Amino acid sequence: MSSSRPVLFLFMRIVTSIPQMQRLAKRWQREGVSVGFVPTMGYLHRGHISLVERARKIAGSKGKVVVSIYVNPAQFGPNEDFSKYPRDLERDKKLCRTAKVDLLFVPSNDEMYPTSPEQPFSTFVVEETLSKTMEGESRPTHFRGVTTVVAKLLNIVGPNVAVFGAKDFQQATIIRRMVRDLNIPVRVVVAPTKREPDGLALSSRNKYLSPDERREANILWKSVQMARQMTHLSPNGTSAAKMETRVRRLIEAQPASRVDYVAFFDPESIHPVRVVKRGTQMALAVFIGRTRLIDNAAL
Ligand code: AMP
Repeated sequence: MSSSRPVLFLFMRIVTSIPQMQRLAKRWQREGVSVGFVPTMGYLHRGHISLVERARKIAGSKGKVVVSIYVNPAQFGPNEDFSKYPRDLERDKKLCRTAKVDLLFVPSNDEMYPTSPEQPFSTFVVEETLSKTMEGESRPTHFRGVTTVVAKLLNIVGPNVAVFGAKDFQQATIIRRMVRDLNIPVRVVVAPTKREPDGLALSSRNKYLSPDERREANILWKSVQMARQMTHLSPNGTSAAKMETRVRRLIEAQPASRVDYVAFFDPESIHPVRVVKRGTQMALAVFIGRTRLIDNAAL
């Protein structure tokens, strides 16, 4: 029996080859098609989808939205979670189709970082100032991997707009700087962090948490709330050292939590501040068991 329901045919192109992606990008450019781009490492969640929606809004109904999924080995340190980083391409494809993504770009390691003995990959993009603190201090090769892969993806996809999440605040700031410094012709847009009802920022890495750890993980958001309250109670500012001590105490009273860093800084320059006021940015990295989570917010 045939159903009277209309069949929703959501066509999404999937491209794995870099030359094929570049050919398409060139064609779109010639035809004046506006392209919005969302680079990800996959295992998509509502946070990623909110970036897709933002890209669609900017590119318009006649434009194209491209999402890339690539777990970039260059941004993981030797003892980090590259091999166990969660991957589920079939699920990601469905989510992208539902979100009306036009093209999913899934490049291979072989094409992204060729290893042939005659011509191995040997060029990296390094931002030298903003990447020294916070994530850059804890993960010394991380941002070199991020800037390199984002520069490559922007060259391949050639978007008009690229959308990044405020969840990775320092990353977004470094990418803005790289785009300006290298004159990459793209507009960088940063979209707000999506959270669970208890405040935990959505992250593919939340999958690693046991039920007990998951309950404890909202300590990052609770820390932000406490810092906000302290800031609002002291209009003349509070010393960053004092705030840090209070936040560390709150977090380390939890059985499975260990602070990696807590930082208070100017949101534009990323310079640490001595006195925390309204508008100061707070960022923190916390191990919940073996899982390292990050979060940040304006106070
Ligand atoms: P990832 O797949 O973790 O590399 O993230 C891809 C993009 O999604 C980055 O620009 C992230 O900042 C962004 N993103 C990750 N989590 C969230 C979230 N909870 N809310 C908004 N954007 C996010």
